[in-house]
Amino acid sequence: MTAEAAVKYVTEIPEEEVKRVSAWINTEEYKEKNFARQALVINPPHACQPLGAELAAHGFEGTLPFVHGSQGCASYYRSTFNRHFREPAPAVSDSMTEDGAVFGGQNNLHEALENAYTIYQPKMMAVFTSCMPEVIGDDLTAFIKNARNKGIVPQDYPLPYANTPSFNGSHVHGYDAMLLSILQTLTEGKKVEGRCTGKLNLIPGFDCNTGNYREYKRILKEFGIPYTLLADISDTFDSPLDGTYRPYPGGTKLEDAADSINGKATLTVAPFSSAKTFTWIKDNYSGTHVSLPTPFGVAKTDALLLKLSELFGKPVPESLKAERGYAVDAMTDAHQYIHGKKFALYGDPDYLIGYVSFLLEMGAKPYHILCSKGNKKVEKELQALLDASPDGKGCKIYMGKDLWHMRSLLMTDPVDAMIGDTHGKFAARDAGIPLFRFGFPVFDRVNLHRSPLIGYQGAINMLTAICNKFIEIRDETCEDRHFEMMR
Ligand code: SF4
Repeated sequence: MTAEAAVKYVTEIPEEEVKRVSAWINTEEYKEKNFARQALVINPPHACQPLGAELAAHGFEGTLPFVHGSQGCASYYRSTFNRHFREPAPAVSDSMTEDGAVFGGQNNLHEALENAYTIYQPKMMAVFTSCMPEVIGDDLTAFIKNARNKGIVPQDYPLPYANTPSFNGSHVHGYDAMLLSILQTLTEGKKVEGRCTGKLNLIPGFDCNTGNYREYKRILKEFGIPYTLLADISDTFDSPLDGTYRPYPGGTKLEDAADSINGKATLTVAPFSSAKTFTWIKDNYSGTHVSLPTPFGVAKTDALLLKLSELFGKPVPESLKAERGYAVDAMTDAHQYIHGKKFALYGDPDYLIGYVSFLLEMGAKPYHILCSKGNKKVEKELQALLDASPDGKGCKIYMGKDLWHMRSLLMTDPVDAMIGDTHGKFAARDAGIPLFRFGFPVFDRVNLHRSPLIGYQGAINMLTAICNKFIEIRDETCEDRHFEMMR
């Protein structure tokens, strides 16, 4: 008997049945069943909390992200960043296994802290948790206090830590929790009455587009506004390839982060991925505190520039006014290719709000808007944007849904394109529409994270990608007699 003959299939599915089910999952009837689904999530467009915590940790000078929990989880976060940025993401784990799950992870934590401190000599370690220690209820506060008392790390060594239970929230919430703990740790005892650094603290939030960070910095430089970016991952995940491996390239300087408590103003441009941090900042930081939406599109970029002008008493520079003109010109030139087109969107709250604003400015319809981890406030803001524009009519928001729900929407109520991250490529392929990869993570295209999406330049970049793709589709699919030089 050959090995092949020995294989006995548990179920044989006739070809006609495969065809029938393939057609059925595209129907309205199936959509209703799909939307009635309660106990299962399929292809959610979000990651778990610790992944977000790791990103925040990477944004600080000389900082080693430290996962208290399972090795496999740590590999998942690292490989996600590796694949998105195509750069190393150095982080350590204390590799809890079965004995840790039974007796608690203190021994793992202490041994790993000692090793990491000695071998990798980071200026700071930022500790966060995977599911396992959260399920068993490990007490990080006590474990870290014990580590200091045992001399594993010096008493004054910065060791921020955050509980990042993965069964709650998403990467965005983990980012917020870790950023909060880092700022609380670094600024402790640093507030000086009457002192003002004269600087702006800018919080970009969970954003995996290194081009966006550089765009923020460029805008502030044009204004001549001194700043501290909290937290700056631009060099961490986009460093030059010159033959030298640097374990901790870039990041916000720890002394600047410590002094940020004495800043002239603190501005978050990611209200949903820095909500808790910003609430704490309002109670503890000097100066003015402002929260603005992520500056996607012209109107939200205008709001940012006007606020900067107001906060620092400086006029909007002529160079940025000219950029606004370039963006408006580019939008006018391209609007005929995007006006009236329907889009399906999914992603993090701050980005989603940005996509919707940008599309409405272009007269496009953000038709299906899906947020897998949002709250009533996100929904309200999205709805307010839709209500304020005639192009928002008929567009719908789906909170707490996943990309399998999105597939049903695409098959029963089609759109022209999707905007999101790589996870949507299966649904986009089934629907036969393009996917614009503006979100995180992007595993299947190169260098997109270097192309900014925020500001006037970001609006031009998004517009160019979208309109040229629609033109390309027309070129590829039109009849010969309509294949023209001009489009
Ligand atoms: S969800 Fe839990 S088990 Fe899965 S990678 Fe995240 S922390 Fe690990």
